[in-house]
Amino acid sequence: MEKFDIAIIGGGPAGIMAAIAASRTSDVILLEKNTSLGRKLLMTGGGRCNITNNKPIKQLLTFFNNKNFLKHSFYTFTNEDLFSLFDFDFIEEDDNRMFPETEKASDVLEALTEKLDNVAIRYGFDVEKITEGFVINDSIKADKIIIATGGMTYPQTGCNIKNYALTSQPLTDIKYGLSPLITIKDLSKIAGVTLYDVDVSYKKSKAKGNVLFSHVGLTGPGIINLSNEISESINYNLLENNPALEFEVSIDLCPDYTRENLQEKFAADFQIKGKAMLKNYLRQFLTNSFINFFLDEIDLDGDLQLSQINKKSKNRLIENLKRFPFAISDFNSALAKITIGGVDLDYVNPKTLESTLTPGLYFAGEVLNLHGPTGGYNLKIAFSTGYLAGLSAGEK
Ligand SMILES: Cc1cc2nc3c(=O)[nH]c(=O)nc-3n(C[C@H](O)[C@H](O)[C@H](O)COP(=O)(O)OP(=O)(O)OC[C@H]3O[C@@H](n4cnc5c(N)ncnc54)[C@H](O)[C@@H]3O)c2cc1C
Repeated sequence: MEKFDIAIIGGGPAGIMAAIAASRTSDVILLEKNTSLGRKLLMTGGGRCNITNNKPIKQLLTFFNNKNFLKHSFYTFTNEDLFSLFDFDFIEEDDNRMFPETEKASDVLEALTEKLDNVAIRYGFDVEKITEGFVINDSIKADKIIIATGGMTYPQTGCNIKNYALTSQPLTDIKYGLSPLITIKDLSKIAGVTLYDVDVSYKKSKAKGNVLFSHVGLTGPGIINLSNEISESINYNLLENNPALEFEVSIDLCPDYTRENLQEKFAADFQIKGKAMLKNYLRQFLTNSFINFFLDEIDLDGDLQLSQINKKSKNRLIENLKRFPFAISDFNSALAKITIGGVDLDYVNPKTLESTLTPGLYFAGEVLNLHGPTGGYNLKIAFSTGYLAGLSAGEK
């Protein structure tokens, strides 16, 4: 049987970073079931890798589901510490999203992999069991283990819901996160259309951002970010069952106007521009390629002149501009980017990321019950917790 100080299970960003930190003091083996490291990392940011978010730590922490737990990880391994591992620069884009100047996730992966010189890497090694005394698959024994197996979305990257059993820890409900939504209505007619900077709502939850229509439903940052709150508020656990869903999200198509503003504007405009056709008038509020669909849905004829529109229709128009509803039948699970839920943080020490139930067992990355919105927040979790777990496990 081979023996190591530390075995790290999973060669994604969390596992790689744990290996970099732990190998400074210890004899480390990294076990990855794929034939290469970081498959999901290569897909991040559309292949450009939105590696982190550059907000000041105090502000940044407020975007996660458990800021107290993450505090120590974030202060132990900062964005500056992360950037110092690369010999290229990072560029800040809108909303403090950071990307490598080379715009390639593959450059990020290559630079990190180069830091693994002192780490034994076993590819194609699917960890199926961990037995008494930290024996892995009956062939490798370690003094300590770091589990960094990620979540359960995008199984083609190596993630799998059965990995949670490896943790031997209490788990929270496992749910889809950062997910597009499937609409009951077929949206082929408007597939590819984007609504810019609209407000999206589900019950009392709101998100702002672009919404993009696909053939099967809604996507884009506004929807993706709102999906976290939707998923959290629905009672289901993928370890036990798939969610039975039917709910509504609505889009405020004119977030810069209140209903009263629209009432006043319409009252004035409908008098002055009485001969204008409704479908042309709406161009100031809606993208052209969306107008026909919108008018069909609310049963109004776009060829009507403004002067021909009665009060009831005008009110229907205003109501739908402010609250245009879509009935949702499911999460688009194949495209959910992250997992909500995981190893219950109540049984993990936030200062070391060691289990409080099993000494010598550590956790890093998405396998933990930690998540954030889109914008570099989830890789931030992976890198910072990966580093802290590696550092703590490596302490003699
Ligand atoms: C399409 C897409 C785009 C994204 N873009 C961004 C972005 O731009 N910015 C951002 O912050 N976040 C992004 N994310 C989220 C981010 O990629 C993840 O949160 C992050 O990769 C999690 O890192 P991890 O190391 O914890 O897990 P993973 O990256 O999932 O790595 C886990 C590794 O463990 C291995 N493994 C699993 N089980 C076993 C086992 N039993 N034995 C051996 N090995 C095993 C897997 O093969 C995998 O290599 C994106 C996600 C997706 C799907």
